[in-house]
Amino acid sequence: MKSNKQRRTELRELRQKRQEKHKAKAIALEQDKVRKNMPANAVRCNPEALAPSSSYYTVLPFVDRGYYIDLPFQCVDCQKQEIWTAAQQQWWYEVAKGNVLSFAVRCRACRHMERDRKIEARRIHLEGVAKKLAMTSTIPE
Ligand SMILES: [Zn+2]
Repeated sequence: MKSNKQRRTELRELRQKRQEKHKAKAIALEQDKVRKNMPANAVRCNPEALAPSSSYYTVLPFVDRGYYIDLPFQCVDCQKQEIWTAAQQQWWYEVAKGNVLSFAVRCRACRHMERDRKIEARRIHLEGVAKKLAMTSTIPE
């Protein structure tokens, strides 16, 4: 003979198990839906791998959708039409931890030119700083 308390505990455990099963089923169904709607070259999005952001109130399309899709954009420097591929987006947001609100603005060629320009600008700047330091340190007291 089981006590009422034992029976209640048993029932609660059963209910919990049932709810967990339902939840798992719902998640699997949702994932299946996402998979079925994914275009051929889409890449699944893992929200947990994204860089932390303060913009929690912004609905990110790739998180909402569950996957990245190829996106066309125009290079800000040469105006060329380019495609930011789903795979590149996943790398940028999840591996490089790029800002979740950032978006591709330059084509590959212009991006490399911009990087070289920045490196050169930094070199010239540091040279100038070194020169200034050398000048001030030789001023007699
Ligand atoms: Zn360009």
